[in-house]
Amino acid sequence: MKKRNRIKIFGEWVTLDHVDLTSEGIYGDCTVSSRTIRLHVGLEGAEYKRVLAHESEHMRLGISGLSEMMSAELEEALAVLAETR
Ligand SMILES: [Zn+2]
Repeated sequence: MKKRNRIKIFGEWVTLDHVDLTSEGIYGDCTVSSRTIRLHVGLEGAEYKRVLAHESEHMRLGISGLSEMMSAELEEALAVLAETR
């Protein structure tokens, strides 16, 4: 499947890095300060879209500043909720 190398969130470019995250035991993560989302290179199809939606929600909450106003648990719950969009 075609995977984009960057997406725009709130008018800002966010880099999508497709890397092997096996050793870290995760499918993806989000670093707001560098506007970078890492996604496990082995992800495809619906699973890829689910993880991208999850990490994109973390980025939205981070860029908007909303993540500063909530607990880590609530932010994670919102990111999980965003997977079903
Ligand atoms: Zn999360």
